[in-house]
Amino acid sequence: MTGKVYLVGAGPGDPELLTLKALKLLKSADVVLHDDLIGPEILAFIPSSSEVQNVGKRFGRKSISQAEIHALMIQNALLGLQVVRLKSGDPLIFGRAGEEMEALRQAGVEFEIVPGVTAAFGAAANAKIPLTHRQVSSAIVLVTGHNAATDEFADWPAKIPTDATVVVYMPGYDYRSTAQQLVRAGVPGPTPCAIVSQATSSNEQVHLTTVEDLHTSPRLPSPTLLVVGEVVRLAKPAALHQQFAWPNAPASTSSILATGQERAE
Ligand code: SAH
Repeated sequence: MTGKVYLVGAGPGDPELLTLKALKLLKSADVVLHDDLIGPEILAFIPSSSEVQNVGKRFGRKSISQAEIHALMIQNALLGLQVVRLKSGDPLIFGRAGEEMEALRQAGVEFEIVPGVTAAFGAAANAKIPLTHRQVSSAIVLVTGHNAATDEFADWPAKIPTDATVVVYMPGYDYRSTAQQLVRAGVPGPTPCAIVSQATSSNEQVHLTTVEDLHTSPRLPSPTLLVVGEVVRLAKPAALHQQFAWPNAPASTSSILATGQERAE
């Protein structure tokens, strides 16, 4: 009987952010093929009887090709094994799941996707940044700073709506170019932004700045991501009316949200 491949999201790092389904699959898989970003605490859930292989590629450094990853998944499934392809965050976000699904379909191998908490959501939760906000952000744009295959800057939408929160995955350290790209796409220079390093781990760091000052930021340890938008002001506790100059903001909304912030701190 043919086995099955599960493309599983491991979340941003904190093992408590694994889903119950991911945990169940990790405990029962015959083979686990995981990315570099999966930490030891999560790998510790895998029984010693399972075969575990790191198939990660970081910053273009090749340990194993994408085609080889496809072959490993397919060969093991055809042997009748349960294969977990474990990816950081959510498997469908900047995780090459599209290519892997296509290869599995072509090989006639059954597969299932198990979602995970994407890094943007883990980072925003810990930094206390609401990614949307009734008054200042009505959209979220997820972009990648670098193209993982070529290590070049990725193409972004020509125009990012001014009321959107932008999250840049794989921002790299060329902050000057990232800021230029943001401004070219219509994001104003004074827009606040946060660099979140190793989100949800015990080493998490958050650096708050603005797009125009981004180039002066420290190089925080990878993985990092960049959250850009007026909502980043809410990472710091302060009354809403001090953070936003909203002449028309309803008083009730401001006070409710300000109380929520105080309680959360
Ligand atoms: N599928 C993943 C993203 C993979 S791309 C997801 O949904 O989160 C890898 C990039 O994700 C990293 O370069 C970094 O920008 C981001 N990332 C992953 N884990 C992170 C973490 N714990 N803290 C900050 N950024 C992280």
